[in-house]
Amino acid sequence: MPPTPAFATRAASILDGLRSGGQYKHLQMLEGPMDATVRVRGYGECLCFCSNNYLGLANHPEVIEAGRKALTDFGAGTASVRFICGTFSPHETLEREIARYMGTAASYTFVSAWTANEAVFPTLCEPGDIIISDELNHACIIDSIRLATVIKKGLHKAVYKNKIITADQGPGSLEEAINKAKANPEVTGQIWVVTDGVFSMEGSVGDLPAIRKLCDTVGAMLVVDDSHGHGVMGALGRGTHEHFGMIDPVGAAPSAANRVDIFTGTLGKALGGGAGGFVAASQQVIDMLIQRGRPTLFSNALPVTVAASAQMAIEITLREPQRVARLRDNVTYARAQITAAGFDVLKSPTAICPIIVHDTAKAIAMSKRLLELGVFVIGFGYPVVPEGHARLRVQISAAHTHEHIDRLVDALKKL
Ligand SMILES: *Cc1c(COP(=O)(O)O)cnc(C)c1O
Repeated sequence: MPPTPAFATRAASILDGLRSGGQYKHLQMLEGPMDATVRVRGYGECLCFCSNNYLGLANHPEVIEAGRKALTDFGAGTASVRFICGTFSPHETLEREIARYMGTAASYTFVSAWTANEAVFPTLCEPGDIIISDELNHACIIDSIRLATVIKKGLHKAVYKNKIITADQGPGSLEEAINKAKANPEVTGQIWVVTDGVFSMEGSVGDLPAIRKLCDTVGAMLVVDDSHGHGVMGALGRGTHEHFGMIDPVGAAPSAANRVDIFTGTLGKALGGGAGGFVAASQQVIDMLIQRGRPTLFSNALPVTVAASAQMAIEITLREPQRVARLRDNVTYARAQITAAGFDVLKSPTAICPIIVHDTAKAIAMSKRLLELGVFVIGFGYPVVPEGHARLRVQISAAHTHEHIDRLVDALKKL
């Protein structure tokens, strides 16, 4: 069946607009596993500096073997949602491991972090509550808040300027938003504050201690999506809360030290890279999600192969802190070398090193030329980042060697 003329005309116009605006995306085909180097169709073996494979676990033999064994032991899946007959024991093992890793009482997994975030606000918020969100939070947090406010009429939302926490840091702060919420007679319920731990386009870090302090003044619940912080932040790679010392030792019962109420995160980046997301929080929050979460009640579990691989990836992360240390060393080395080559890199301790080139067309042309030179780096421009802030986003991995990084810098110098 051909599409209707009305749809075909409209879709053609949108797609043509993307092509003429230089925003049309071409998917590159990888013909082998994700690692420090990847085989890219049409370009051969390239250095990969655009994956979130921060600890180099995506192609780790134990991670692969765990998935393979789960496939043999459990088959492809349960063909059921979890509350009917869709939970395998590896899901339980994984969720215990995530809670241990994050330092929470419990956790629950989803097919993606997107779905995990989508479960949080529509399930946990009620009319009279307000959700206050950083303007640069991930798209799935934004959509989760939108969905929640549609489902729960009378649920409020507000946005604060990226990382502007206290009023003395500038207008549009979180503090200002909290004060407005307190003064609003329609806000009668819970105040929620949500932030990314690490912001994906900036590679910058959310100031969790300052946010927590403000939350405490009004009894707000703090939600942190740390998808780019796992495996990267803190000495053991447990995340941004570890970086700030807001965490208990591995295996200890959660104490007042862990000052984040709810974490969301992904298993599709550093922690194996297969797919999957989770919520890590108190048992009560997890119970709410199991009992009332629509993505929990109406959608299948994470595939068991992925659950087993992710569990192994977390085990390796905690067992081999030298991986996190190697990543940190690579990040320091890469930032120094890129800066020495005369490029403008945003400073931070994360594995995301955005090189600001300002113009969108320039960013795209540079990324194309780098690929021809055997270096895979993606250029991001408007509308993913604001006009004039186009960038090459270089992502560093523990799988890289200094020699790989030198080759990246040599290629950058040739541009
Ligand atoms: C990547 C990312 C997600 C999405 O993760 P998936 O598991 O791929 O759905 C969600 N939130 C943040 C902050 C991310 O960086």
